[in-house]
Amino acid sequence: MTRLRIALVAHDVKKPELADWVAEHATFLSRHELVATGTTGRTLMDRVPGLTIERVKSGPLGGDQQIGARIVEGALDLLVFFWDPLTAQPHEPDVRALLRIAQVYDIPVACSRATASLIVRGLAGDP
Ligand code: PGA
Repeated sequence: MTRLRIALVAHDVKKPELADWVAEHATFLSRHELVATGTTGRTLMDRVPGLTIERVKSGPLGGDQQIGARIVEGALDLLVFFWDPLTAQPHEPDVRALLRIAQVYDIPVACSRATASLIVRGLAGDP
């Protein structure tokens, strides 16, 4: 299978859910290039030791924009972004910008565990 470039981002309240999802799909994810915003990446690597994840800046410090730039540069194939629908974020403009640019460039975006699992099962040929 082609090595995909996958970004993983979760707001604080959603980090445990993303960590559970990454642990569940660790074998699949380990075959691809992973990048995450700072705190998300640390959380995920703590949860799944041995999983290699490049970390950019924390989301509120520009990490969302760095992930967005990769999309613009054609350097990302999938965005898994568990954003928090119940809490206002100080970097809301960055969150919107990331979701917007993913739409502009037609990058698959999974904002929930159900969608992320469907995408991974589809890629793994296990619908
Ligand atoms: P974090 O950033 O992984 O550094 O918490 C995520 C975000 O808030 O967009």
